[in-house]
Amino acid sequence: MTPRKRLATVWLAGCSGCHMSFLDLDLWLIELAELAEIVYSPIASDVKIYPNAVDIALVEGAVGTSDNLALLQQVRANTTTLVSFGDCALTANVPGMRNPMADPQAVLRCAYGELADAGAQPPGDPLLPQLLPRALPVHELVPVEVYLPGCPPPAERIRAVLEALLQGERPQLAPEQIRFG
Ligand code: SF4
Repeated sequence: MTPRKRLATVWLAGCSGCHMSFLDLDLWLIELAELAEIVYSPIASDVKIYPNAVDIALVEGAVGTSDNLALLQQVRANTTTLVSFGDCALTANVPGMRNPMADPQAVLRCAYGELADAGAQPPGDPLLPQLLPRALPVHELVPVEVYLPGCPPPAERIRAVLEALLQGERPQLAPEQIRFG
């Protein structure tokens, strides 16, 4: 019997909508469980440390904070096939809307001072992750093997990519599946 692949899903600066679309795989998740062991995921386990020797990782979200960057570097160092999962990972998308402000302190002043309830203060605890100057797409920071666009990618597109990867093949999305938004 072929050993199950080691699969991870990772949540960086995203809304978790891509993970919700992953859950929309519904009954196919049962087949997936026979082909792959989910070794790290915000929706399937309480593992806090990214494990070694992961075969496939779906990475949702842009890289917006120091924590995002540290986790992404762990993922890259311990994963064979990194999938840039959804438009935020591919282009920075929604998290990247803050990029024209350039200055993280200006972003915090805007969010907590101008847009929040009166009296809100920007978080000052140095233990909190620091905003990077810009929210970046995953491929600007580490090599990416597979791009899976969509906001979120629909479940059938996720399945098409995973089925190919689990068979050791390079995913070939149909032209109508290579869509943003
Ligand atoms: Fe959410 Fe869309 Fe970004 Fe996925 S690509 S994390 S659904 S905003």
